[in-house]
Amino acid sequence: MIQIVVGGGTAGSALATRLSQGLPGASILLLEAGPSAPDEERINIPGRKGSTLGTVYDWNFTTVAQPGANSRVFSVPRGKVLGGSSALNLMSWDRASVAEYNAWEALGNPGWNWQSMIAAMKRVETFAPSPHYGTTGVGTSGPIKTVINRLIPTHQESWIPTMNTLGVPFNKESLGGNPLGVMYQPSNIDPATWTRSYAANGYLPNAGSNLEVVTGVRVAKVNLVRCAGRFTATGVTLQDGTVIQARKEVVLSAGSIQSPGLLELSGIGRESVLDDADIDQVINLPGVGENLQDHFRIQGSFQLKDNYTSFDILRSNATLASEQLALWRAGQPSLYDYTGSGYTFLNWDKTVGASGASTLRSLAQQAVGASSNLVDKKRLGLLADSSVPQLEVIFSDGYTGVKGYPAAGAPLFGKGFFTLIAGIMHPLSRGSVHVRTSSLADQPVINPNYLSNEYDIQAAITAIKYIRKIANTAPLSSVWVSEYEPGLAAVPATTTPADEAKWREFALATTLSIFHPVGTCAMLPRNKGGVVNPKLVVYGTTNLRVVDASIMPILVSGHIQTAVYGIAERAAELIIQDANKRR
Ligand SMILES: Cc1cc2nc3c(=O)[nH]c(=O)nc-3n(C[C@H](O)[C@H](O)[C@H](O)COP(=O)(O)OP(=O)(O)OC[C@H]3O[C@@H](n4cnc5c(N)ncnc54)[C@H](O)[C@@H]3O)c2cc1C
Repeated sequence: MIQIVVGGGTAGSALATRLSQGLPGASILLLEAGPSAPDEERINIPGRKGSTLGTVYDWNFTTVAQPGANSRVFSVPRGKVLGGSSALNLMSWDRASVAEYNAWEALGNPGWNWQSMIAAMKRVETFAPSPHYGTTGVGTSGPIKTVINRLIPTHQESWIPTMNTLGVPFNKESLGGNPLGVMYQPSNIDPATWTRSYAANGYLPNAGSNLEVVTGVRVAKVNLVRCAGRFTATGVTLQDGTVIQARKEVVLSAGSIQSPGLLELSGIGRESVLDDADIDQVINLPGVGENLQDHFRIQGSFQLKDNYTSFDILRSNATLASEQLALWRAGQPSLYDYTGSGYTFLNWDKTVGASGASTLRSLAQQAVGASSNLVDKKRLGLLADSSVPQLEVIFSDGYTGVKGYPAAGAPLFGKGFFTLIAGIMHPLSRGSVHVRTSSLADQPVINPNYLSNEYDIQAAITAIKYIRKIANTAPLSSVWVSEYEPGLAAVPATTTPADEAKWREFALATTLSIFHPVGTCAMLPRNKGGVVNPKLVVYGTTNLRVVDASIMPILVSGHIQTAVYGIAERAAELIIQDANKRR
């Protein structure tokens, strides 16, 4: 084999396909630990999003207890199936602002900026024209199909006017580099079949016969030989001991949680981590597994008036659910088509006014303190930039939260809800993921340090208060009867110091991840904690690259799959250029 790609997930499948197309004379091998599941309805049916979490298609990782969040353990779902996390994700399809991709370049990565990333991200998608959406920044001929949902719940029609009342403008071009505003949100769904469009069914069918895909095989480590002061990857060893040779290069695309672990298992990493795990160090690279960043979310739910139907009906009415499933299977419009449609992205000034925003920024300043870390300093810069979103609010139809949908037999069972989910776009917590031992079978130690500083806590509190404000603004205020979560019993509508304490209690108890870990094999200068250079080659090696979400040096706002696919497209370009130069 000439090229080995480890991990047939979002980036790995996209990269392997593009390499097969761009290097027709090469042999490419894509190794995926999970199965191929082309007919799995829990993956394919948009309205069943989330149903694969905790199943065989999920690695089912968890964090260590998070002291900042009442010592809770957070789940860290990751796709273990061809397509990786693109098979499990919730299909939100968006982009961050121009300044956030430009920040990657400013951190020492020439060529990684908005201009190159938007060109790459447009190559990923074919966007179905919609009266609800514009044309700036959308792709027209890529392998991933994207749409605005054809079904928008009646009560959700109040979303855009409500945000307009709050001074937030309608944005029809949110994929074009300015995501601020309120919008109809794209989803990665193929409008021909109304099926999830993802890395496995979007990219891989376009590969040539020079790509071999092997599923159900787990790579245990990369094999390295020293050569003129640097190390060359000669191939990989599988969990069962089989060795596969790579004549040209090895690419790790195992994702933010497992790519750093594979480096560590191969002897590349921080000395103390490798010592603790009893692994001989081959390359001293202290940045491996560090710089873990993630978005977190907080949510509030509201019980709808009885004259509105929410998607909760699919869990409380089995007859209707099976009718709707039959419609989906027959290719007819169905409630199961739905993923989501009402989103908004805001800066803090728009959310809480100039004075509230300034308070949050000084908390951020205090949290970062005198840190000389490049990423921390850049994050402060992004917080001060009014073109960069700091808060996302998703109008999620149906109940999603921590309290749980009312149990069968409870008075509210069968009622419909909507949930407003807020995501904090630039939290300051940073953590790490490392191997625990030298055994591939052991779970990694994942520590994102959620809510470990006062800025992140106050951002969460600001977000949940704003959710209540949105829900109480017309016309949205006219579609619901009561606040279910937190509920006025948990946090009264008054503003006494005791109430402030209750908001804080709620935030610490209910903040969750939105599943966007990045940064653990960061593309940064080596002396600044970098793991890969701007060609995505691991420092100290000649031909070992990392291509997945882990290389993002700094987390971007919104949902990150478009950036991950964009990274794979850029990486393919770089690898093909290098291969052609070598000829
Ligand atoms: C539940 C969930 C919801 C999300 N929702 C959204 C959303 O709505 N919108 C959005 O934009 N983003 C969303 N994301 C984030 C987005 O899907 C991910 O950031 C992205 O898919 C990560 O891509 P990746 O290539 O880095 O890793 P992955 O896609 O996770 O790929 C890694 C692959 O490597 C394989 N692998 C790992 N170790 C090995 C090994 N040793 N040997 C062989 N194979 C291995 C894995 O099985 C997996 O297939 C969500 C993520 C999750 C988990």
